[in-house]
Amino acid sequence: MQSPKCATKLILLHPVTNPFKMRQLRTMARTAQSAPELATAPPLPRLRPGKICVAIQAALPAEMVERAEAALRDSKFLEFRLDWLPKPAAALPLLADFKSAHRDITAIATCRRKEHGGNFVGPLTSELELLLKAAEAGCDIVDLEVESAEEAKPAQLAKWRASLAEAGTALLVSFHDFSRTKGLEQAVARIEAFAPDFVKVVSTARSLADNLAVLRLIEDHSLSSHVVGIAMGEEGLISRVLGPRAGASFTFAAMSDGSATAPGQVAARTLLDLYRIEQLDTATRLFGVAGNPINHSLSPLMHNTAFRRENVNAVMMPLQVRTLDDLLTVVRELPLAGVAVTMPLKTEVMPHLANPLLGNSVPLTQRIGACNTLRVGADGKIIGFNTDVDGVVRPLEKRLRLRGAKIAVLGAGGAARAAVYGLVEQGAEVFIVNRTHETAVALARQSKSKALKQEQLANTRFDVLINTTPCGMAGNKQALPIAENQLNAALVFDMVYNPIETPLLKLAKERGIPVISGIEMFVQQGARQFEIWTGKPAPEAEMLRVVELELRRRG
Ligand code: NAP
Repeated sequence: MQSPKCATKLILLHPVTNPFKMRQLRTMARTAQSAPELATAPPLPRLRPGKICVAIQAALPAEMVERAEAALRDSKFLEFRLDWLPKPAAALPLLADFKSAHRDITAIATCRRKEHGGNFVGPLTSELELLLKAAEAGCDIVDLEVESAEEAKPAQLAKWRASLAEAGTALLVSFHDFSRTKGLEQAVARIEAFAPDFVKVVSTARSLADNLAVLRLIEDHSLSSHVVGIAMGEEGLISRVLGPRAGASFTFAAMSDGSATAPGQVAARTLLDLYRIEQLDTATRLFGVAGNPINHSLSPLMHNTAFRRENVNAVMMPLQVRTLDDLLTVVRELPLAGVAVTMPLKTEVMPHLANPLLGNSVPLTQRIGACNTLRVGADGKIIGFNTDVDGVVRPLEKRLRLRGAKIAVLGAGGAARAAVYGLVEQGAEVFIVNRTHETAVALARQSKSKALKQEQLANTRFDVLINTTPCGMAGNKQALPIAENQLNAALVFDMVYNPIETPLLKLAKERGIPVISGIEMFVQQGARQFEIWTGKPAPEAEMLRVVELELRRRG
C-alpha cells in the first residue's frame, strides 16, 4: 500500500508546474475508496476564515480596535498583534466588545515574544496567559510560535490547550525565519509534532526561487493540514499572491500601505483589487514584470486592469530580481506565461531566446540587441519581442508619415536603440545626438542612421525630436536634455513619463509645438505586450486612463 509519504514525493516531482496533477491528487485524497491512504486537512466546522487575514497593529488598544473596524471594509478575518501594544492585557476587554459586536468575523490573537521576532518582552507563562485570555475574549484562533510550544512543559501545554478547546479556540503554531528560506520541511515537522489546527511557516525570500520552495511546501502539506506559507521581503510577493491558489488556508495582508506588520506585506486592498487573489485558480496564467527595483512599476496596474477588462484569466506580479538565472528558474518552474523585462535584463536575456530566423534576415529584436517582452511557450521556449519599438512607432505614425521624416533622437542607450532601429525600418532619416558622442557614432554605424553633435541641433530643422535620456525625470538633476535654443522641431516626443509634463514638453508647448508624452509610449508598448500574450486587442483607452490616474495620484 502506498504511504502518505510516497504520495508527497509524487507531488513534489512537479508540484507547482502541474496543476492538473494537483487537482487529481486532491480529488483522490477526498475520495476515500480511490486513495484511502491520502489524508485531507481535518474540517474546522466553526471557522470560516476568508483568504485574506488583515494584520492589525497599533500603539494603543483603542486605536487597535478603531483600525480593526476600518479593516472590516476589506476582510472579516483579522489578526490582532497584541505584542505591538505596550500593555497587551489592556486591550482584551475592548477586544471582547469588538468580537461580540461582530459575531461573523474571524479573529487571530498573536503575542509573539521578542526573541522570536515579535515585540512582547514577557516570559512564556505571560504569553500563554495572554493568549488564553484572548481566546476567552472571543478570539477564534491563537498563534503560538513553535519555539514557545517547544519551551513549554508538556503538562503545561496540555492544560493550556484543554482550556483553549474549552473556549472553542483553534491553535495555530508558527515558524518564522527572518533571514532566509531554508529547512522548511523540518519547520513543518517541528510544528506538526504538536498537531495544531493550523501550520504556519514563514521564511524570508532572498531570491524569486525561494517562492517556489514555499509554494511547494503549501501544495504538499495542504493535502493533510491547514497550512499557511509565506516568504517575507520584496522578493516574496509571489508567495503572498499565489499562496491561497497553491492551497494555503489563507494569507496575511496589511491594513493599508505603510501599516505592514512584516517585511513585504501588501495591503489587503492591493491583494483584492490589483491581484484579484480571490479569483485566481489553477487555470490563471501568470505574468511578471522583472527588474530591480520594480516595486513602483506601473505595469502590474496597467496589465491587470487590461486582463480584468477583457476577461482574461491572468495576473501580473512585480518580480524583484537580482539575477537573470533566478528569473529563468521561476519562468520555467512556476511557470510564467510571459514577462516584461527592464534593464539590464533586456540585453542579458538575449542569448536565451528561441526566436526563429526570418529567412536570411536577422529579426529586429536581435538587431536591436534588447528585448522587453518574453512570451513562454507550452514547450518552455522563450520568444523575445521589443515592444518599445511599437511604443515609439505607433504614436508617431498616427501623426505623420515616417518614410523620409527627419527625426532627431537624443540619447543612445537601450530605449534609443529601439527607437532608432524601429524608425530606420519605417524609412525615417534618423540623427542620433548623445552626451558620449562615440556611442552615438557606433549606434549610427550599426543602424544605418547618422550621428550628430548636439550643437548642430540648432541649425537643423527636424520633423520630430525624441528624448530618450532620463533628463527631466522626477528626481533627475538635469531638467532639459538640450539647450533651449536647440529645440528646432515640428513635433516633440519625450520618453520620460514621470512627471507626465516634463520640462521639455512644457518648453515645446510654450512654443506652440505639438507633443507626445512618454505615457503614450508606455501604454503603446504595454498594449503590444498584451496582444502578444493574449492574442486579443488591448483596451488601450482603459490602460491609459489607469496609468494616467495613478501618475497623477503619485503627484
Ligand atoms: P540607458 O540605457 O541608461 O540610456 C540613457 C541614455 O541617456 C544614454 O545615452 C546616456 O548617455 C543618456 N544620458 C543619461 N544621463 C544624461 C544626462 N544627464 N544628459 C545627457 N544625456 C544623458 O537608459 P534607457 O533604458 O535607454 O532609458 C532612458 C529613458 O527612457 C529613461 O528615462 C526611461 O524611463 C525612459 N523609457 C521610457 C519608456 C516608455 O515606455 N515611456 C520606455 C523605455 C525607456 P551616455 O551614453 O553619455 O551615458
